[in-house]
Amino acid sequence: MAPVARPDTNTLFHIDLTWFEKTGRDLREEMHAALCEDCRALYPMPADAGVVDRVHPLTAQVTRVDALWECLADHCGRQPDFITPATPLTTAIFRALLANGNQPMSPEQLRQRIRKGSAAAILKLLLGSEIQNGVVPFEAQV
Ligand SMILES: [Zn+2]
Repeated sequence: MAPVARPDTNTLFHIDLTWFEKTGRDLREEMHAALCEDCRALYPMPADAGVVDRVHPLTAQVTRVDALWECLADHCGRQPDFITPATPLTTAIFRALLANGNQPMSPEQLRQRIRKGSAAAILKLLLGSEIQNGVVPFEAQV
């Protein structure tokens, strides 16, 4: 058996979407709570934000995307108050990944994004005994 690499501040983490199913929590509700005021006015309830067509600006290829992910990545995540110094670290990490379209990020990248704590502190939190918001090490599919 190959030895398990010890996670460090360059280890990638992502939101495990199945964690929400397993723990009975509603990811879409959590995502909805992270929306800015403008987007919440647009989608008063999580169910109002359905699947929308996204047209690729260069190839004009149309893909179906979840409006909540779209909002968070393209709008809310770019607002200055999406992550503030008052945002708890666990929430800030979760929001950074939401705004990143759940593309995996390392503690170092997270620290740069959230401008809070240190990469070591973020790593320690992510490896804590309790999984926060489904954020776990990203394992490349083989
Ligand atoms: Zn927004």
